[in-house]
Amino acid sequence: MAFQDLSFDGVRALIRVDFNVPLTNPAEDGSREVTDNTRIRSAVPTIQHVLDTGGSVVLMSHLGRPKGQDAALSLQHIVPTLEGLLGRDVKFASDCVGDDALEVTQSLAAGEVAVLENLRFHGEEKAGDEFFAGQLAENGDFYINDAFGTAHRAHASTAVIAKFFPEDKAFGFLMEGEVKAMDKVLGEAQKPVAAVIGGAKVSSKLAVLKNLLDRVDKLVIGGGMAYTFVQAQGGQVGDSLVESDMHAEALALLEAAKEKGIEVHLPTDTLCGDGFSPDAAQETHPTDAIPDGWEGMDIGANSRVAFATALGDCQTILWNGPMGVFEFDRFAEGTNHIANAIVKATEGGAYTLVGGGDSVAAVNKAGLAEKVSYVSTGGGAMLEGLEGKTLPGIAAITKD
Ligand code: AMP
Repeated sequence: MAFQDLSFDGVRALIRVDFNVPLTNPAEDGSREVTDNTRIRSAVPTIQHVLDTGGSVVLMSHLGRPKGQDAALSLQHIVPTLEGLLGRDVKFASDCVGDDALEVTQSLAAGEVAVLENLRFHGEEKAGDEFFAGQLAENGDFYINDAFGTAHRAHASTAVIAKFFPEDKAFGFLMEGEVKAMDKVLGEAQKPVAAVIGGAKVSSKLAVLKNLLDRVDKLVIGGGMAYTFVQAQGGQVGDSLVESDMHAEALALLEAAKEKGIEVHLPTDTLCGDGFSPDAAQETHPTDAIPDGWEGMDIGANSRVAFATALGDCQTILWNGPMGVFEFDRFAEGTNHIANAIVKATEGGAYTLVGGGDSVAAVNKAGLAEKVSYVSTGGGAMLEGLEGKTLPGIAAITKD
């Protein structure tokens, strides 16, 4: 059932959220303030839905990487921000399990909200300890997972806990959105389907590329990883980033794509720099004839047009990884051009998903995040999803 259709009358909903937010350095009294409330803000609709339908809310999250108890990483620091966003008081339990937690969570009245202390103060959380998960489960009647960022981890609060709520478990709005988006691209995608894959290294995207071979009609490869493909085919790539030990894998991938009739686009021209620097001198060279002393930093002007044209008739586009070193403004044009092509495809009715890598930062930097169909919030989780792996946090909800 869709989360919107669930009602929580008289129910204590135990929600795994991602409140792993950046904080200021501790003040003299030890207090810290939230410097970017995006993650807390995005959990509000799920919390509000439980409250609006008559329930109470217990929130659990990790914050940072504590080794045991650590006051600097207490979730107490986020309570004032949450209170501001919800417009109501929020209770705080000084532990996430045991009497300190139960004292707060068992007496919650409808409309009340409580936050449990940082899950990772207990090593059992990351270990996926079943007894600990059972203790956590005592804090609620219904389990909701709305933390996509940790969906690829089989931790106590993200996956193991679900077994204590065989009938009473669901995704919140955020998780539901991510799962739907992934399915629209990897599952019942409208053809033609294109994947635009960029970023620094082939090795980190190999599993994604392999999984996509069974799902896409077009594969557009840019970014630093393109030079390994070009070099493997005998091209001269100058001082560009390459992974020579990946030649065989790269060639095998191109061969498999050919066998499946996939249209593969690699950059034919490259905007090079005379060093890895934001103010490097620039020259454009054919990607397979980059002179020594120059390194590929962005796709060239012809490739930008060719890539955008290839995307023009696609009904589904997945974008993962920038086309160049977009952090340097003078080498961001290729990435921005592709972002705009994806926006144009979206305006023409295509479903477009940006996720799992620095392409999310790139669309945000270009101010285009609102203009694509979906921007994923979970980098590592989305990447593993695109690799075709079953994410424990998702399986825990969808499987009995
Ligand atoms: P990823 O996290 O795998 O998506 O990789 C993103 C990183 O790849 C960004 O920091 C980019 O600067 C980097 N990158 C993209 N193109 C290149 C390139 N041609 N040379 C070096 N690094 C690149």
